[in-house]
Amino acid sequence: MRFLKSPVGISHEVIQKLVSKGDVVVDATVGNGNDTLFLAKLVGDNGHVFGFDIQDKAIENTRQKLISEDMLDNVTLIKDGHQNIDKYVKSGIKAVIFNLGYLPGGDHKIHTKPDNTITAIQKSLELVVSHGIVVLVIYYGGDSGFEEKDAVLDFLRELDQKKYSVLMYDFINNINCPPIVVCIEKLK
Ligand code: SAM
Repeated sequence: MRFLKSPVGISHEVIQKLVSKGDVVVDATVGNGNDTLFLAKLVGDNGHVFGFDIQDKAIENTRQKLISEDMLDNVTLIKDGHQNIDKYVKSGIKAVIFNLGYLPGGDHKIHTKPDNTITAIQKSLELVVSHGIVVLVIYYGGDSGFEEKDAVLDFLRELDQKKYSVLMYDFINNINCPPIVVCIEKLK
């Protein structure tokens, strides 16, 4: 077994270190519900997960995944863009995860977009508690292209280092545009 996890595995490992039972967390792109299920198990019955997606198919796939594991009770699924996160969640979030790109098994033309993603990251950084985190798994290349990755990384490089700590994990010897993981910690 490899010691260095996959990008998704790394994102989960980071979140697992910070998030505990009873916390409020957000899955900004539920897709097929893998991250939502992971988060629901992590926060337990007394915690809560808010999950966003713009596609009916993603919301339904996630709902079915949660039902099959009897984990729907502490999850609110919202069919709206993550750029509207502040309409639904007001404060007190411990962690937000974004899995950028298109729905696996879905229409590759429907994918996350730079402006919406950056707005959602900005709002998430306002809403997370002090020392809360926002974790991004950035898929790029292929049908997703490079525009979103470049815009998001440009935005993150400009964040004030007194307010945010930003760490990037990148498998630099992989030739096939492996997803990049970025973790942003809110310092105050
Ligand atoms: N985390 C998911 C999983 O575990 O299966 C995979 C997410 S998939 C890579 C990206 C998802 O983002 C797609 O389902 C897509 O519909 C969704 N999406 C695109 N734009 C969005 C937006 N503005 N707000 C929320 N979700 C969006």
